[in-house]
Amino acid sequence: MSNEDRAAIFTYGGGPVTVSPRTLAGFGQPVPFEYDPSYLKRFKDVERKVAEIFETDQDVVIMQGEAVLGLEAAVKGLCREGMTALNLVSGIFGKLFGDWMRALGVEVIEIEAEWNDSIDPADVKRKLDEHPEIELVVVVQSETPSGTVNPVDEIGPIAHEAGALTIVDAVSSFGGSPVRTAEWNLDITVAGPQKCVGGSPGLSFVSVSDRAWEAMSSNPGAPRSSFLSLLDWKERWIDAGRKRFPHVTSVVDINGTDAALDEFLEDGLEESIARHDLAARACRAGVEAMGLELWAAREEIASHAVTAVTVPEGISNQAVISHIRSAYDVMLSDGELGEMIDRVIRIGHSGPVSRSLNPIVALTALGQGLSDFGVPVEIGAGVEAAMQVLRQPVEEDGAAAFA
Ligand SMILES: *Cc1c(COP(=O)(O)O)cnc(C)c1O
Repeated sequence: MSNEDRAAIFTYGGGPVTVSPRTLAGFGQPVPFEYDPSYLKRFKDVERKVAEIFETDQDVVIMQGEAVLGLEAAVKGLCREGMTALNLVSGIFGKLFGDWMRALGVEVIEIEAEWNDSIDPADVKRKLDEHPEIELVVVVQSETPSGTVNPVDEIGPIAHEAGALTIVDAVSSFGGSPVRTAEWNLDITVAGPQKCVGGSPGLSFVSVSDRAWEAMSSNPGAPRSSFLSLLDWKERWIDAGRKRFPHVTSVVDINGTDAALDEFLEDGLEESIARHDLAARACRAGVEAMGLELWAAREEIASHAVTAVTVPEGISNQAVISHIRSAYDVMLSDGELGEMIDRVIRIGHSGPVSRSLNPIVALTALGQGLSDFGVPVEIGAGVEAAMQVLRQPVEEDGAAAFA
C-alpha cells in the first residue's frame, strides 16, 4: 500500500512544481562539452528567453544554483557595512532578507505588513522621504508561503525616483504575474525555473541594471572569484563576449530549462500569466464556496502561483497534508518556513498544473482531507464554484469535431 517510494500522482505544492513531458525530455538530452557551439548557443538562448519574461533588455545572469543563490548574490553584491537599506516585509522571505543584510552590517529600516497583507506603497514613499540616506529597497513580489503579492509596479518607480536601487525577489511571480523590470525601473530581479515557468530547481535568473553593476563594481565587499559573484559573470562572461564561463555550468539544468522556457513562451507570456490567474481565481472561489478561509486578507493581493488556505481551528495542517498524501496520492504544501509553517495549507497552481482541471483535483483533495478530520466542508459547492471560473463555451464547430 505504501506510496512513499515514488512521487505523488498529483503535486500541488508551493514549488518545485511538476514538470511537463517536454521539459522532462529536455532534461534527458545528451550532455555536451560546455564549449560545444551548440551548448554556448543554448546558454545564450536561455538568457534571451529569461530576459523576455523579465521584460528587460538589461543584462541577465544565469547563476548555477537554486534561486536562493541569486538572492544571496544580489544582497552580497549591493550591500556594504554601514549603508542604509529599506526592507519591506510581508512574510517569511522578506524577513530573511533583513537577517542577511543585518549580518553584513547594513543599517536596516523595515516596514512590516501583517503577514496576510501587503506593503502599502505610500508607506514606502514616506519612509524614503524621511530617510534620504536609504540606498537600497528590498522587496519580495510574491510571498509564496503566504500566497500574497506586493505592488512592485508602484514600489519600483517610487524607489527609483528617490535614487535608491532595488532588489526584487520575483521567484514565484516570474511567469505567473507581470514582472516588468524595465518599465518599473527594477535594478536586480531574481527568479528561478522551478515555479511558474515549469522547470526544475537548480538555476537562478538574475537581471541587473547598469546602475546596479556600477554600485557592485565600486563595492569592495562584493564577492569576486566566488560562486556568489555576479561580477565574475559580468567580467568573464558578458563583457568578454560570452565565450568562457566563470566556472563549469549545470548542463542538464540548462537543457531542461531551455525546453521549459520554449514551452512557456510558445503559449505566450500574456497567455501564460492569464492561465495562472485563472487557476488562482478558480482555487479561491472553490476554497470559499467549500466554507474554508483564504489566508490572504484581500482578493487583490492573492498570488497567481499558489493559494494559501487558513488552517481550521484545532486542526494540524501537517496531519492533514500527510493524510491527503498517503490516502489520495496528492501532495499539498504547508507554509514552508518559520512562522508560516503551521498556519496554512497551500494549493500550488504554478507551471504545468496551472492547466486543465488541476484546481478541481487539488480542491477536492483538500476538501475531502479536511472532511476526514471532521471539518465541515462543502466539497461539491467548492467544485461547482471553481468550475464556474474554469468553464469554457463550446466552440462553434466543437460538436462537429467529434461527429
Ligand atoms: C521558491 C522561492 C524562493 C527560492 O527558495 P526555495 O529554496 O526554492 O524555497 C525564493 N523566494 C521566493 C519568494 C520563493 O517563492
